[in-house]
Amino acid sequence: MKKVAVVGAGVAGLSAAIYALKSGFEVTLCEQNKTAGGFCTSWRRGGYLFEGAIHWMTGTHPETPIYGMWKDTGALNESVKIHLNEPFKSAEWEGQVASFYRDVNKTKENLLSISPEDEKRILRLVNDIKMLSRFNRPLSDIKGVKTQNPKRRFRITPDLLPAFFTALRLYKTTNAKYMEKFKHPAIKWLFSTISGKFSAINRLFTLGILSTGDGGYPEGGSLGMIARMTETFETLGGKLLLNTKVKKVNIQNKEVTGVTLENGFLPADAVIVTQETTAAMDQLFDPPLREPWMKRLRKTIRPTVTTFIGVGIRDVLPETQIPVWKLEKPITYAGMTETSLGFYNYAGYEGYAPQGCSSLTTWFTGDTYEFWKQAKEEGRYKREKDALADQVKEALCRKFPRLEGKIDVIDIATPLTFERYTGSHHGSWMTMFYKGDKLKAFPGYCKNIKGLYFAGHRIMPPGGLPIALDTGRRAAQMVCRQFDAVFKTR
Ligand SMILES: Cc1cc2nc3c(=O)[nH]c(=O)nc-3n(C[C@H](O)[C@H](O)[C@H](O)COP(=O)(O)OP(=O)(O)OC[C@H]3O[C@@H](n4cnc5c(N)ncnc54)[C@H](O)[C@@H]3O)c2cc1C
Repeated sequence: MKKVAVVGAGVAGLSAAIYALKSGFEVTLCEQNKTAGGFCTSWRRGGYLFEGAIHWMTGTHPETPIYGMWKDTGALNESVKIHLNEPFKSAEWEGQVASFYRDVNKTKENLLSISPEDEKRILRLVNDIKMLSRFNRPLSDIKGVKTQNPKRRFRITPDLLPAFFTALRLYKTTNAKYMEKFKHPAIKWLFSTISGKFSAINRLFTLGILSTGDGGYPEGGSLGMIARMTETFETLGGKLLLNTKVKKVNIQNKEVTGVTLENGFLPADAVIVTQETTAAMDQLFDPPLREPWMKRLRKTIRPTVTTFIGVGIRDVLPETQIPVWKLEKPITYAGMTETSLGFYNYAGYEGYAPQGCSSLTTWFTGDTYEFWKQAKEEGRYKREKDALADQVKEALCRKFPRLEGKIDVIDIATPLTFERYTGSHHGSWMTMFYKGDKLKAFPGYCKNIKGLYFAGHRIMPPGGLPIALDTGRRAAQMVCRQFDAVFKTR
């Protein structure tokens, strides 16, 4: 039986490993941490559970192709409850709350009630969301692979053409330009919850997915999903090596021979690398790889880097989303200034906080990696984190005076934390589109090295959980193609 070694047991690694096992390979999955999951994780601090990854997830609707993949890998099944909380995103401007709902008609009603004079723009927005909702992210099989099921190819059918042109228009405009056309400041404020530099397609595509009833939160969140995927892998006979860091991918005569671990060598006929691709390129190969697509990848990525904040409060706030509000006093940290704040609220979920308490999470986006790294080197890392925590506490209590004296925990994960835990470049976890950016996926294999494949959120923009899942599946297909094996999903 041919041997496959997979580097990293995040969603991409688990997906690649499960599909390779199902297709008849002997698979060893190496994970540097003591648990699987990578970014797809949550952690406990002082009795509060902070959900670290799944906020909304494409493919929770059973009629989507991606659901099929989540099901193949054991991540989802009929008995996993999916939460579809409303509204999806809210923002408060001078006492008025503007919201994006999953139900696009509710968005329309809400925005029209705030600003009848924006009717034309609001109807355009609704139409754009409806158009984009037609793109049910299709799956395609790679060229030349034999498959158990009929082969899938992505084609733009005539009925998709209007949606395609809508996507093209939105892709060529920025969020700032799209937002500018609305007159009412509350609606502009709602749009400003994502950076104006990004292409408008980022936000509207999400709203399109949500409007179809997809994009929910599976009960048990990240931990539950990874536990189910790990169980699937082990039940199928896969070998999971935890606390096992891969130091190097071994290549001889342009062919992989295995991976070097801290305590030995693991022979393999194929290796699938799921550590974030640019970091893996720097760390796992000697001499460095020289594939043209890797150069392009380094040049074009716009990694999403964040500072994550979990808050444990001895109180229950009613909304599942605490609307983003404008701060009276901006928060300054790591050379950045934040003028707004909003939270995910897990009060409605069991087990996230002690009785009568709530777990809240938020994050600030911006590449502050170098700041935190320097702070660590200079021995002021904790002090800087504490200073940020104090400002978040002050802002929360100013907004909700009832929380004074009731904040139990503020936990901050910096880009350094994410880098340490996942080995990703600057702790980044997806790729955002700027106006006009190329949306192309990177090949994930090397022309001149046999048996070496890449998967994970960096290989296919914009990244995120479904992309990690799909790139894992595609890497397993590449292994099947190499050894002339049939790719199996069952
Ligand atoms: C705050 C936040 C919010 C998010 N929200 C969402 C959301 O709502 N929806 C969504 O779809 N996505 C979301 N994401 C993104 C999503 O979690 C990631 O894109 C996805 O989990 C990436 O999976 P991956 O397998 O590609 O990479 P990773 O999770 O990074 O997996 C790589 C694995 O490889 C291991 N590894 C690295 N190097 C080595 C080595 N040398 N040897 C052994 N093991 C190694 C790492 O420890 C890790 O387990 C969010 C992420 C964050 C941080």
